[in-house]
Amino acid sequence: MRLTDPPCAAGMGRGTVRKADGRGAGDVAHWPLRQRFALPPPHRYATGRIDHCNLPPCPPAFMRRRMPAPLDHIDSWIFDLDNTLYAPSARLFDLIDERMGAFIMRLLNVDAAEARRVQKQYFHDHGTTMAGLMRHHGVHPEDFLVDVHDIALDRLSVDARLRAGLERLPGRKLIFTNADADYAGRVLHARGIADLFDGICDIRVTRYTPKPDPEAYAMMITHLGIDPAKSVFVEDMARNLTPAKALGMTTVWLDNGSESGHRDHLPEHVDFHATDIADWLDNLPLPWGIS
Ligand SMILES: [Mg+2]
Repeated sequence: MRLTDPPCAAGMGRGTVRKADGRGAGDVAHWPLRQRFALPPPHRYATGRIDHCNLPPCPPAFMRRRMPAPLDHIDSWIFDLDNTLYAPSARLFDLIDERMGAFIMRLLNVDAAEARRVQKQYFHDHGTTMAGLMRHHGVHPEDFLVDVHDIALDRLSVDARLRAGLERLPGRKLIFTNADADYAGRVLHARGIADLFDGICDIRVTRYTPKPDPEAYAMMITHLGIDPAKSVFVEDMARNLTPAKALGMTTVWLDNGSESGHRDHLPEHVDFHATDIADWLDNLPLPWGIS
């Protein structure tokens, strides 16, 4: 399998190697991306320490600066996916929104305006539209996930600057998303960064419990094997940072204007404020320990 192959091209799409309980927890989609894409092993030792010899050479400016104390203990970098690892200007969510609306119109036999009202109400009340549809209408989550994420990703493009910023991070790079891992893999591939990530915690792993429900974070910690006290969490939705901060994680709010980014925002739960993910990564003085 080539790195350039999308997941589905190698038969690694949804539904593969499904477990007997039907929840799909054994899907190939839940394997670490390096494993899914048959990539070479990460450039780090078994202890999790980075092998700097295999990292790209750092520019002199970085070599002269030291990491400030608040981040030098971090060994896991956890990223939200949508509107975090690509800009809201891509308007990818518009396509998903459109499919959600059509799904609700068919389900409830309502017009587009009523479907949108229901969609947004459930999103705000339950964390995701899907959670509301499951609770109030008995929708099977897989039916919803497969349908609404069946979108073209040609609005996304490879981002060399983002890739360079991620490559410099010492430690594991992970995804925590309310979407499913199949879709997440497609997005990461379209951005040219799929091979940089060590694992995904998706909505199936959390048994369809979305952020910001604290139960989702507990399952994420177990699944990804992280120490919250040594982890950074980067999110465009400030409300999703609140449970992370309560668990001891260092939080980064990507205040990039995405929808509902400000909702329930509590400044004390935000350690770092950024407006552009690539800029923020660019300005981290890495690697620390080198003066
Ligand atoms: Mg997001």
